[in-house]
Amino acid sequence: MATTAAETARNYIGGEWVDASGDETFETTNPATGETIGSFPKSTVEDVDRAVEAAKEAYESWRLVPAPKRAEILFRVGQRFIDRKDELTELMVREMGKVRAEAGGDVQEAIDMTYYMAGEGRRLFGQTTPSEMPDKFQMSIRMPVGVVGAITPWNFPIAIPSWKITPALVCGDTVVFKPARDTPMLGARFVEIFEEAGLPPGVLNIVHGGGETVGTALVEHPDVPLISLTGSREVGVQTAKNAAARLKHVHLELGGKNAIIVMDDADIDLAVEGILWSAFGTSGQRCTAASRVIASGKVYDQLSSRLVERAEAMKLGDGLEDDTDVGPVINRAALDKIHSYTEIGKDEGAKLLTGGEIATENGLDKGFFYRPTVFADVDPGMRIAQEEIFGPTTALIRATDVDEAIRIANGIEFGLSSSIFTRDVNRAFRAIRDLNTGITYVNAGTTGAEVHLPFGGTKQTGNGHREAGQAALDFYTEWKSVYVDYSGKLQRAQIDAVETPAP
Ligand code: NAD
Repeated sequence: MATTAAETARNYIGGEWVDASGDETFETTNPATGETIGSFPKSTVEDVDRAVEAAKEAYESWRLVPAPKRAEILFRVGQRFIDRKDELTELMVREMGKVRAEAGGDVQEAIDMTYYMAGEGRRLFGQTTPSEMPDKFQMSIRMPVGVVGAITPWNFPIAIPSWKITPALVCGDTVVFKPARDTPMLGARFVEIFEEAGLPPGVLNIVHGGGETVGTALVEHPDVPLISLTGSREVGVQTAKNAAARLKHVHLELGGKNAIIVMDDADIDLAVEGILWSAFGTSGQRCTAASRVIASGKVYDQLSSRLVERAEAMKLGDGLEDDTDVGPVINRAALDKIHSYTEIGKDEGAKLLTGGEIATENGLDKGFFYRPTVFADVDPGMRIAQEEIFGPTTALIRATDVDEAIRIANGIEFGLSSSIFTRDVNRAFRAIRDLNTGITYVNAGTTGAEVHLPFGGTKQTGNGHREAGQAALDFYTEWKSVYVDYSGKLQRAQIDAVETPAP
């Protein structure tokens, strides 16, 4: 085992749990209670170099392991995730704070993704096409690329690593994984499972530490051709800049400012459920969280009073307690940032309907709890309607019709997820066509992706790549086009083509 609670964890490099080069460490604590979870090395550039060296060496043999055999290890990984689901779920509640059902969902997503990508071991399809020449065969095949730097956030601490690492491994790449500073214990457990499943040494390595040091070193390392990072827009921009000097392939999954549209013909009960789940689930700390609700004037008042009533009934607490609806936010800085947006919203003239304060009663002051917050009379241009807050705060905006609602929904710099509640099929299909986001839901909230469809966003949510589904394979492989001429003579493309038969 790499770690137990409050133990000192190590890096995993070349198939061994090893000490970092320096002595500095950092701790993680339970955001609900302040309990210490573990102590981890603040790794250095030297540790990143060692991990990349191990991954580079392992790549030469891993890329030659037939993909169905690579996949057999992933099937074993999937089974180990199932066997250890309860333990991982509980650790996630303690280290990250989300409530038990959601933590279980996070682990389940990794199980689903692992099995999906294991299935790819017997596909990884290319194409064959006819040639314009006689006696010539041609096809495209996928090639692995090399060492992947996988840099992940804390909000889906098991699911997101699986989105990056399982496609990379089945495609024949090797990985250096840097988990978020707030959830390194889950990162260590994730890697342990691959070790238990028999992944060869060096194929997956973990280096703990900060983004500025370990993250930057990975992004700039000359032997890491692929970087896949999920995080904030600011870090994404910095990563793209740092990787540009070596023209690396960079996959960025960044922020969101997702809107739910509620039309006057909507099932309001359903819309209320969808908004509560999307705005306050995971305490609003999902990239797909609904931090805007754009409602038709006719249902606006009814919707806002129902939302306030339900938000005020939500119970804040430790996610391990069965009756908890809303867990803590990740740390003090997040709590302060969320509260600063409440002040910004009030200063901008939005009407605070409920919440807007740090919760401290009944022992909540030991953690970082923020009351579910609803603003009304929000103008689409206000900062609370434009910027990612990443907390349990949502902004109600009025719209007169579907066209205006879609215009408002699109009027932000991000483009991750969107949703419309309507019973009118024409409106639904116009929204599907016109909402400029990577994901659109009809009659559901803004969260709830499944692993076999592409996941990612338009505009400044990313840089055009997608995780999950078939689309993920395009990032972790390079296409090679293969031409085999068995005519025995030189056939020049575009010049020696056979004459088209006369009409
Ligand atoms: P963050 O940007 O602070 O950190 C993300 C990761 O990048 C961490 O591992 C961090 O240590 C590392 N990092 C920081 N600086 C770096 C640098 N200069 N070079 C390389 N790596 C560096 O984000 P966070 O607070 O962990 O996560 C929250 C953010 O993630 C939100 O903006 C959220 O929307 C986004 N997110 C996006 C998706 C998506 O799929 N689009 C999913 C989940 C979270």
